[in-house]
Amino acid sequence: GGKLRDSLRKLHTHSGHVTQSHLKDLLGDISRALIESDVNVKLVMELRNNVNDKVQTLIDEDEEKDSSKNSDADRRASQVSKHVQKVVVEELVQLLQPQRKPYVMKRGKANVVLFVGLQGAGKTTTIAKFANYYQRRGWKTAMVCADTFRAGAFDQLKQNATKLRVPFYGSYTQADPVAIAEEGVDQFCKEGYEVIIVDTSGRHRQEAGLLDEMAEIADAVAPDNTVLVMDATQGQAVFDQASAFSNVVDVGSVIITKLDGHAKGGGALSAVAATESPIIFLGSGEHFDDLDPFNAQSFVSKLLGFGDVRGLMEAMNGQTDKKTQEEMMEKFSKGEFTLRDMYSQFQRVMNMGPMSKVMGMMPGMPEYLIPKNGDDQSTSRLKKFMYMMDSMTDAELDGKVDFITDKNADHVKSRIRRIAAGSGTHPKEVMMLLQVYKQFEGMVSKMGKSGMIGKDAQAKQ
Ligand code: GDP
Ligand code: MG
Repeated sequence: GGKLRDSLRKLHTHSGHVTQSHLKDLLGDISRALIESDVNVKLVMELRNNVNDKVQTLIDEDEEKDSSKNSDADRRASQVSKHVQKVVVEELVQLLQPQRKPYVMKRGKANVVLFVGLQGAGKTTTIAKFANYYQRRGWKTAMVCADTFRAGAFDQLKQNATKLRVPFYGSYTQADPVAIAEEGVDQFCKEGYEVIIVDTSGRHRQEAGLLDEMAEIADAVAPDNTVLVMDATQGQAVFDQASAFSNVVDVGSVIITKLDGHAKGGGALSAVAATESPIIFLGSGEHFDDLDPFNAQSFVSKLLGFGDVRGLMEAMNGQTDKKTQEEMMEKFSKGEFTLRDMYSQFQRVMNMGPMSKVMGMMPGMPEYLIPKNGDDQSTSRLKKFMYMMDSMTDAELDGKVDFITDKNADHVKSRIRRIAAGSGTHPKEVMMLLQVYKQFEGMVSKMGKSGMIGKDAQAKQ
């Protein structure tokens, strides 16, 4: 994500006019960065052409004027850059929103959901999360294990089901998976279950038999929705893998797993392109709660390395009253962000938990501040930062003192010493806080100006 952000930033710093060759360079940089983020090469080429077409008018006009000596040149460069950025975001969001809409579960009837995907993609784990998600929302949920191939597959599902108190159906013997799927679904249908989830065997990508078996199960249980589970760490391989499944069963939805690791996320776009079906959830860990409803805008924002400001806003829902939240959105959409804003964000984060998730969503948040497994170290760092901000004056908190550009000025140095003394910290730590603030502020300002937050972005949801 960082590289991508950098290439988008490049044009900002051009001092001359914006020519075709500038645009070509910029689009080249963006394309490389997207490919590095595991976005499929063919998709990147298409995106590049689309963006190029959409911004042509701006460029041509500029060249005719030959505005190299024009005092408007800087402003123009920055306008074009922002426009390119906006178009890139729009194109990516569009790629993630195919024609086909997600299947909507219907109350009071059996919704049969078949899970497919390669072995190890995360089907069984995701099924538990999925069951948990619906059960918590009051749906009568059950699971069927049609994976008779892998020893232990039934035990794994059974253990999850038992923990979640969800009824399950399956067999320890290497029975016919098609028959088991059919029996299980029939039984739960008769018993009035609303969400009936069928787990299948993944075997191996080389085995054509897997695909045949899966097609037979699909025929037998006639699913209302077939969910393809894709492992994000597969990167560029996702496109072909997803296509293979899509050719055999009617994939209606996609869930991308393992986004909590080192995966760069671009594979998600491949999965949508290959299946022409929407992503419904993202998996972000091994626990039952690590399943997040998909939002294209947030996803693109994270992919581009802006941090998930929208997700953060949504997570804050319920923590903040609507008015405060709207005010904050309004400010952010104008690119305004003061230390006081950062303070109140930290404060909300502290009240929110689970920390790690929320921190990961904050733009500009450095790695060392993101708690890994609910560790207290990052929490205490945050608290320390808040103590420092407690020692600041109103003027400092409200952005009336420029800590960043004037960082070597004597008055700033003495302010830093005063803040450190007041909070029982070292001046170096205060400078670190200011560094974090600078990153944050930069992100919010860029996002605000690119229209990614604020009214328009919200309306699209
Ligand atoms: P299946 O063969 O498709 O059923 O895959 P499993 O559900 O058995 O998962 C394979 C491995 O991936 C297990 O070790 C899971 O704990 C792990 N896993 C699944 N989903 C996620 C995820 O979102 N994040 C992480 N970190 N691990 C996951
Ligand atoms: Mg499994």
